[in-house]
Amino acid sequence: MPESWRDMDIANPTEEHSMLREMVRDFVREKVEPQALESDRNERFNLGLFREMGSMGLLGLTAPPEYGGAGMDATSVAIVNEELSYSDPGLCLAFLAHDQLFVNNLVHSGSDSQKERILPKVCSGEWVGCLGMSEPNQGTDVLGMETSAKQSDDGSWIINGRKMWITNGIIDDEGTPADIVWLYARTGTDERGRAEITTFLIESGMEGYSAGQKIEDKLGMRASTTAELVFENCVVPSENIVGMPGESKIHLMRNLEHERVALAAMSVGISRRCLADMNSYASEREAFGKQIRNFGQIQRHIGESWADYRAMRAYVYDTARQIDLSKAGQRLDSDGVKLFATTVAKNIADKAIQVMGGYGYVGEYVVERLWRDAKLLEIGGGTIESHQKNITKDLSTNSSAIEQ
Ligand SMILES: Cc1cc2nc3c(=O)[nH]c(=O)nc-3n(C[C@H](O)[C@H](O)[C@H](O)COP(=O)(O)OP(=O)(O)OC[C@H]3O[C@@H](n4cnc5c(N)ncnc54)[C@H](O)[C@@H]3O)c2cc1C
Repeated sequence: MPESWRDMDIANPTEEHSMLREMVRDFVREKVEPQALESDRNERFNLGLFREMGSMGLLGLTAPPEYGGAGMDATSVAIVNEELSYSDPGLCLAFLAHDQLFVNNLVHSGSDSQKERILPKVCSGEWVGCLGMSEPNQGTDVLGMETSAKQSDDGSWIINGRKMWITNGIIDDEGTPADIVWLYARTGTDERGRAEITTFLIESGMEGYSAGQKIEDKLGMRASTTAELVFENCVVPSENIVGMPGESKIHLMRNLEHERVALAAMSVGISRRCLADMNSYASEREAFGKQIRNFGQIQRHIGESWADYRAMRAYVYDTARQIDLSKAGQRLDSDGVKLFATTVAKNIADKAIQVMGGYGYVGEYVVERLWRDAKLLEIGGGTIESHQKNITKDLSTNSSAIEQ
């Protein structure tokens, strides 16, 4: 066994990972933090800052370098998500929708010609991407989706339906729809009445593709836009279909696993910031002639947050290390880590507000925003109830996972 194994930091396993973390941390301090409060207040996606991430090589983290990507792994994705979420989870969510839901999906499931044509544009930030899976009437029950596509005699496809809650669905105040959408649509029905799902690449300007309502007044993640997308006899050329008709279930599941670890990594960033802020506040604030960190009940908030944060960090990076982005089948831990980390992040943010008293309740002190942002992580990319369901189902057929 190599002597160095004890030295490995699971969150920075190689020098490249450490350098990436350092670069993103500097960027967050200099550019992200100064605008985070304003973007939240104004419910505005900072497109300029997002595009700057393209010039830093962050918008195609897992895309091969020949297409303009960084050629990195799931641990790198976790690092970037953690660092961005330390300051601005809303901006991170927009980044996640683009980098992890669009780019990573195309990298692993697109054809060579689709990758050659599209990846350079999304990796540079010239195009903003998103993923359309959820609908007004279906979320968790994804195979019940109603958006459908039919092939015409000339080989093109006609799509009808609506997608709901789409992060980056619009990209500015004018309601400009996303440049490109990774769209799931029903192209058939199996013997159980469930959808056979096919993926389409929908590009801005295609006939019948438009943005619907912008979802306003969200509790959190206000620095990302959320919108409805509308497809009315939308005509899609056959070269914009991904893979074979009806075969998208596998890449839908594979990318959801990646997304869940990425969302869990956002929880690490939120938790680290809340812990840092409650810890320094507990030294600065005095009551009854003492720093409040001397009070047992404050010690409970800080002590429990530390232990939860450390457990979450270990589980997130251990899962990210094991994720093979080209394969599905890692759901037990991708669901497990999101189930654990998201609720823990929300609870740590809650404790930070409590430690900071009235100050914790106002925007300038950051933790109230992180508390609001953290709540979304229990819903988006799969609700915590769906993770409980999946884990229990998987352990019924794979109980040996418990004994490993
Ligand atoms: C800010 C934001 C951004 C989002 N971004 C995107 C995006 O970019 N792309 C995208 O496609 N979607 C996106 N979503 C949608 C998100 O993934 C869904 O909201 C989520 O999957 C839940 O679906 P739903 O809202 O329809 O809730 P439902 O599925 O209707 O669930 C309602 C409640 O019922 C529970 N429930 C449902 N089924 C079961 C069951 N079998 N057992 C137990 N409980 C159950 C749920 O856990 C939940 O508590 C986003 C949502 C938000 C709020």
